Amino acid sequence: MVNLESLYQELILDHYKNPLNKGLASDSSVSVHHVNPSCGDEVDLNLIVAGQQIVSVTWDGVGCSISQASTSVLSDLVRGKSAPEALRIIEAFSEVMASKGSNGGDPDLLGDAVAFAGVSRYPARIKCALLGWMALKDAMVQAKVIG
Ligand code: ZN
Repeated sequence: MVNLESLYQELILDHYKNPLNKGLASDSSVSVHHVNPSCGDEVDLNLIVAGQQIVSVTWDGVGCSISQASTSVLSDLVRGKSAPEALRIIEAFSEVMASKGSNGGDPDLLGDAVAFAGVSRYPARIKCALLGWMALKDAMVQAKVIG
């Protein structure tokens, strides 16, 4: 029998070891820096938009595997999406994180990010998982692609 929890654990570790879109683009529409002081996680995020479209999200960071892997998954998930679509994804992930383990997330919408659903049972780690997502939301507000 396949243990979903350990599969998810592996996915998180894989993103941590082989992060996607890590390394800041030299040009960007908006750059933001977010920290999670309770764990010591930091992320710099560069957002490039064209009109309402997210062209790329590149990032750099230090911190725990959850914060770094979650930002890696996010950066891949929203690339090429429209701003409203990306916001819907961020809000769906925030709902999963607020669910205390009761909401496993919609894989059609959240892709690999459903691997972090179990984190919502550990209040101290929720900010780790959300760090990159809140950074992107902030960048989208600054880029004026969402209100
Ligand atoms: Zn952390």
